[in-house]
Amino acid sequence: MAITAPLPPGSTIGILGGGQLGRMLAMAAVQLGYRVIGYAPAGDNVAISACDDFFENGWADTAALAAFASKCDVVTWEFENVPLSTVDAIPENLLAAPPKALMIAQDRLNEKRFVEELGATCAPYMRVESEEDFAKAVDRVGTPGILKTARDGYDGKGQWRISSAHEVEGIRFPGRPCIYEGMVNFEAEFSVILARSSDGQEGGNIRIWDSSANTHDGGMLVKSVIPAGSIIESQVEAARNIARKTADALQYVGVLTLEFFATKDGPVFNEMAPRVHNSGHWTIEGAATSQFENHIRAICGLPLGGTETRFASIDMRNIVGEDALSAHEILAEDGEPHLHLYGKREARDGRKMGHVTRVAHG
Ligand code: AMP
Repeated sequence: MAITAPLPPGSTIGILGGGQLGRMLAMAAVQLGYRVIGYAPAGDNVAISACDDFFENGWADTAALAAFASKCDVVTWEFENVPLSTVDAIPENLLAAPPKALMIAQDRLNEKRFVEELGATCAPYMRVESEEDFAKAVDRVGTPGILKTARDGYDGKGQWRISSAHEVEGIRFPGRPCIYEGMVNFEAEFSVILARSSDGQEGGNIRIWDSSANTHDGGMLVKSVIPAGSIIESQVEAARNIARKTADALQYVGVLTLEFFATKDGPVFNEMAPRVHNSGHWTIEGAATSQFENHIRAICGLPLGGTETRFASIDMRNIVGEDALSAHEILAEDGEPHLHLYGKREARDGRKMGHVTRVAHG
């Protein structure tokens, strides 16, 4: 597991997953002199244009996975729903982080139990495996609440909100394990994004970026803003403690994200992602070292870079669906708009097509 000596320039990083996170990871890796090979099933794999080579093969194609692994010096992922069987097909000594991180983060129940043991507070929740369980959970946990599929949900997909017990009947149970959780009456939302390297380095082997205030719509991130405001700032340290403990307990290497609600009673854990995160895109221009670069540094055994925020205010917004068609207008704005488009071919509704980060000095 995990590299101890730094990987020399010219070595090859393998990335499982082909989305925008892989694309931005590959761009950071190339800057540091590495070669990058991606792997993902055929589709709109926008990471391809940033990679030296790319395998478009199924997650279960063991021959292709073996060929991919034989070309890599280290393997990481950009997507937490890479099947565990895929990761198991990669020789363990090539994996940058332990597969346990994926195993925990792929299941909402696992991740809640894991962080609760480390001292985190979660919204009240119950496992739901049938319509009867659902009615029982609503009875015990109360309303309003959200039914979420335990696995494979993202950007608000696989979630059903109810405001009263009568609405249970209106929801067709998805027929796979779910979790029902009470709706949190939060003041604000934030994430803790950290980078952890495998060995000790001066100043510790964990670096944490400032937390932005994150706004979601329908379960999908809309914007991340710094400064985050006093409520979040007063709760960040408690949340960081949980995030540090989580990273240490997992013996994690790379960037890890934990999402929290800031409530009147302190931070409430929502979910984790063992990867770079949308709410950290502002770090590309806004921090001393971006989340993408520090992930590459961590998995290649290089010293982590500073995570200090470089501007008085930062505003990162996602560009979604058809909005991408007019996004170039942003470039004509005064100030410092930093436009990132991911090169996706189809601007479907609700699809993240890019983001813009606006920074200001004072
Ligand atoms: P998730 O997929 O769990 O990250 O949920 C996406 C977003 O939905 C969160 O960032 C919140 O804005 C909202 N959300 C999810 N779960 C809850 C909850 N238990 N209480 C209030 N809002 C929630």
